[in-house]
Amino acid sequence: MNQPPWDAIFVGAGITSLACAAMLVKRHPGLRLLVIDKHIVVGGYATTFSRPSQGVTFDCSLHKLSGMTEGGNLIRILRELELDRALDLVYPDDYFCAYRAGTVLPLANNAEQAEQQLVARFGHQAEGIATFFEHVRTYGRNGYYQFQMLNGSFEPDMTQLRFAHRNFKHKTVREVLHELFDDPYLIEILAAPGIYVGGYSEDLGYLYFLHVVYATLNRGNAYVVGSSQRLSNLLAQRVLEAGGKIALSTHVDDVLTDGNGNVTGVRTSRGFFNSAQVYINTSPHYALQYLFSSDIELAATRDKLTALKPARSTTTVYLVIDHAPAELGLHHTESMLFADEATAVELRMAAERSGYDTELSEHAFWQMSPIEVTNYHALDAAGGKVVCLNVLDSIAHWPRRRTPEYRAKKQRASEVLVERLLMHVPGLRGHVMHIEVATPHTYVRFTNNTDGSGYGAMVGTDLKGHVFHHGFPVQGVHFLSAWVAGPSYEAAFGYAEMKAKQWKQA
Ligand SMILES: Cc1cc2nc3c(=O)[nH]c(=O)nc-3n(C[C@H](O)[C@H](O)[C@H](O)COP(=O)(O)OP(=O)(O)OC[C@H]3O[C@@H](n4cnc5c(N)ncnc54)[C@H](O)[C@@H]3O)c2cc1C
Repeated sequence: MNQPPWDAIFVGAGITSLACAAMLVKRHPGLRLLVIDKHIVVGGYATTFSRPSQGVTFDCSLHKLSGMTEGGNLIRILRELELDRALDLVYPDDYFCAYRAGTVLPLANNAEQAEQQLVARFGHQAEGIATFFEHVRTYGRNGYYQFQMLNGSFEPDMTQLRFAHRNFKHKTVREVLHELFDDPYLIEILAAPGIYVGGYSEDLGYLYFLHVVYATLNRGNAYVVGSSQRLSNLLAQRVLEAGGKIALSTHVDDVLTDGNGNVTGVRTSRGFFNSAQVYINTSPHYALQYLFSSDIELAATRDKLTALKPARSTTTVYLVIDHAPAELGLHHTESMLFADEATAVELRMAAERSGYDTELSEHAFWQMSPIEVTNYHALDAAGGKVVCLNVLDSIAHWPRRRTPEYRAKKQRASEVLVERLLMHVPGLRGHVMHIEVATPHTYVRFTNNTDGSGYGAMVGTDLKGHVFHHGFPVQGVHFLSAWVAGPSYEAAFGYAEMKAKQWKQA
């Protein structure tokens, strides 16, 4: 305990921590920061893992960085950090390509073009499509510039804000899309970007969702050559160059206080570290359960936290293909595979009502819900001939790890999801050389995120849980993660920027 104190300690080296730490040392070059993570690499979900025997590297999360063209928040922040030139960015042609029942509908990575493509395919719903895209351009845009609204640099049209508040604040994506459209397939396509933030149409608030579409479609998206790990490593390097330290393979066991409501540091698997500022990058539920001593009065925070629901988790299938996937028929960087019948919402709700019965859940989440497919080889061939499948899932129907039931279930997940891909892209059949599955339990194991959520808290229509950290009783503790920022790399950087601007030397 007699080492000099750090100016700030970060518990977890996820992308929000790394972004905030890099911004702090840029704004205040003398700061000494310590970033601690239990894992062997920095980044949390923004990491990769390699299989040298297959000659591949799998990206654990990133397939789209939103806000990456002019007017985008993320590209602005990356420029301010002078990282834009260090990052080799790929701007794909596709938003995603929709597959269903033998039909293929590519959507361009541009809002006007995507709207035209949808009108050409769903002419009978043209009026609703125009209204939806108008909602994205107005209410989605207002939501997207919320930080600028708070600091006065973006002035919204108050009539629009009042209209949105009155008409949409309490509605889910599903409710509004059903008011606008009667074509169930179109509804599924328009709701699919919810997968980027861990929610289905019945989960997500409509206004929040509009900002997700605005961020990913209207403000441009890109991938980073060298994967999310490259971005995480560059941010970590900034901290190191400024004299900070990154402590990996180090588990934080406790956040310490002076008994008078002030934080004093952390106790870890490698000893004690002092600081009057501690940023918590882990899930808040995890932090309150494991990191704070029982004599700290946290009942009020716990109470608020019960309203903060985790976003959906993910089941991911990593594939290695023996040829370039594009040569075998997977032409687009990203695809969404839809079931022939658009009954997934009802089936998911029935699965939930059943208490996540195994058979009902597997049918609803794996067989009938959309699968997001990333053709990583088309984004960055150096990572190998990799294709990745993601479905939003619930940990509630997964048995414990290391049990025969768990292994059998992983096998079933891989069979169902891969078969759906092969049905839509038959050229891939016989060319899948290697398969790995990550489940909601895998995500808990690597990140400690509650229920394996990959996207922090669900942003539904009830937002009262999102202020759980207001009035937190321990001075000097800050929460900094997707759980407070909102899901996505862009939200992480936006929130990190706000926290860095609020820095005051203790
Ligand atoms: C499959 C998937 C795909 C995604 N795709 C995209 C995408 O394409 N675009 C996009 O913008 N977003 C995407 N996301 C969302 C995005 O990856 C996350 O929102 C973001 O990475 C979360 O970052 P975070 O800062 O909250 O920290 P996390 O990544 O959750 O990291 C938390 C860190 O804390 C560490 N930790 C936990 N407990 C302890 C402890 N006791 N001691 C020490 N360390 C601890 C963990 O090891 C971890 O490194 C995706 C997510 C998933 C799951």
